[in-house]
Amino acid sequence: MNSVNPSIFELSRKDRVGYSLPKSDVPERKLPESLLRQEAARLPEVSELQLMRHYTRLSHDNFGIENGFYPLGSCTMKYNPKINEVTARLDGFANIHPFQPLEHVQGALQLMYELQEDLKVITGMDAISLQPAAGAHGEWTGLMMVRAFHEKNGDTKRTKVFVPDSAHGTNPASAYIAGFDVVSIPTTDEGFVDVEDLRQKVGDDTAALMLTNPNTLGLFEKDIVEIAEIIHDAGGLLYYDGANLNAIMAKTSPGFMGFDIVHLNIHKTFSTPHGGGGPGAGPVGVKEHIQPYLPIPRVEKTDSGYTLNDHYPDSIGRVKGYYGNFGVLVRAYTYIRTMGPVGLRKVSESAVLHANYLAKRLSSAYVLPYDQICKHEFVLSGKIQKKQGVRTLDIAKRLLDYDFYAPTVYFPLIVEEAMMIEPTETESKETLDEFVTAMLKIAEEVVENPELVLEAPHQKSVRRLDEVKAARQIKVNYFQS
Ligand SMILES: *Cc1c(COP(=O)(O)O)cnc(C)c1O
Repeated sequence: MNSVNPSIFELSRKDRVGYSLPKSDVPERKLPESLLRQEAARLPEVSELQLMRHYTRLSHDNFGIENGFYPLGSCTMKYNPKINEVTARLDGFANIHPFQPLEHVQGALQLMYELQEDLKVITGMDAISLQPAAGAHGEWTGLMMVRAFHEKNGDTKRTKVFVPDSAHGTNPASAYIAGFDVVSIPTTDEGFVDVEDLRQKVGDDTAALMLTNPNTLGLFEKDIVEIAEIIHDAGGLLYYDGANLNAIMAKTSPGFMGFDIVHLNIHKTFSTPHGGGGPGAGPVGVKEHIQPYLPIPRVEKTDSGYTLNDHYPDSIGRVKGYYGNFGVLVRAYTYIRTMGPVGLRKVSESAVLHANYLAKRLSSAYVLPYDQICKHEFVLSGKIQKKQGVRTLDIAKRLLDYDFYAPTVYFPLIVEEAMMIEPTETESKETLDEFVTAMLKIAEEVVENPELVLEAPHQKSVRRLDEVKAARQIKVNYFQS
């Protein structure tokens, strides 16, 4: 409703129309009086061209991976190749219905089966379910399987789930919602799980450890084999938060590291679009001993074709309507098959190279608290700048004026004034260099002209929004007071 972008209702003029329809040639049917509107709906009346310009203008105000660099750490904002969109829109995929008989949707089931097989290889797991709709949903599904496994063994004392203090917030939340007590494990000064602390805390009440590796500081937990032993010796299970596989694809796998259960974020690592709330997909993978508990139905291959199998008495049941977000699965399958194993390995190598390049160059102006070789992302601290009166949030806002999206800020929680930067593999060296130039320039501005940074952004149609209010008191109706 600002002058830059008038609302479509402000453009509205009585009786202006944006469409022309042929005269109806079907007989009119009268609706019962009780179903009729008492007054006309308040709809905007604009021409087709006005409508087109309105939405095109709005779309230009939106920052996306297709108009700029988007280094949002732990979110893997990677390019979605357009071939993915082509396959997702194929008639036989886009226009099927979940109630069609299985013999009509063999191709769709084949794609799901083959995606499961590919994800088994990528994760080093023995079985996959594609049902969960997002990362957090996959975590919860995984933890319900942890519960089912211990209950089946009559091991009902196991109530504790360990979560490192650097973990993504969804980890403790999922564990809690699955009915566990969450126990935090500290991070060492070097940025790794405190193995000694873990060793002290495990016991016959240990249900599982949830771990992200590389962790959210972008560092590979080098003690992973020892950690796996500690948890398994205590009778617990090892859960891998595989939201971001961008550093390890075709290099190593959670299965190889000793994990029992994993979830993946297809909408991060496997290039399907995300942001704005979805849809995504968060498949779960398990080792053989957890396989009976996977959600049903399971997509399987038989001698007479592909089928859906419900006959798993120990399954935790269905976790999603129908069979998951199918269109997202088609995109991920397309991505994996176009890249192939060699391509996926190259993705990992480039992602890691890009992150290390940026970390090195930016450490001349910002604190790099864990200064070592990182994986696909790294975390800077804006604490020098904070002493100079400018906070990380201000730096993030100033970056928008340079046409870059901001890194993830204030996460992980263990880093003061954190900026978590993930460049992804598809960026060119020139783009990375432009980002470095902007970041170094902002560090200078902080010293020489802090007001400029404190009042940013200057060049956008809106300034700083009250994000908390926007989320808590969401207003989607123009006329709502
Ligand atoms: C994004 C992310 C999640 C949560 O995934 P959603 O799809 O947003 O639910 C969990 N863990 C890590 C490490 C993540 O980066």
